[in-house]
Amino acid sequence: MSCLFCRIVSGEIPSTPVYQDELSYAFADVNPKAPVHILIVPREHISSMFEADENKRALLGHLMLAAAEIARNKGLGNGYRIVVNTGSDGGQTVDHLHLHLLGGRPLTWPPG
Ligand code: AMP
Ligand code: ZN
Repeated sequence: MSCLFCRIVSGEIPSTPVYQDELSYAFADVNPKAPVHILIVPREHISSMFEADENKRALLGHLMLAAAEIARNKGLGNGYRIVVNTGSDGGQTVDHLHLHLLGGRPLTWPPG
């Protein structure tokens, strides 16, 4: 198993857990870009949003709701951002689908 986030989900590579359930796992980003920077990943290996289709509808909704619950738990009542970098133009560097949850400071727009 060579996928970095699969190895984090399995516990082979340590991470700082934030939230978990039967379908998803969330952990602190090792190089945070905001006071709160959490990654939410499916336990199942999905490479990117390029694989999104009807079969993934429920799982993708589940990941969004997990991010919203984490945001509530982190007290991000002033707002936050959920980002899913996809492919090389999207800036994706780890090929296991992940949601970035960013908050705790005002975020600029548009992103680079
Ligand atoms: P992306 O560029 O959207 O693919 O995001 C990958 C994210 O994974 C980056 O924000 C990295 O800081 C983060 N990252 C890489 N390795 C680790 C790790 N071992 N633990 C936690 N986060 C990581
Ligand atoms: Zn994976």
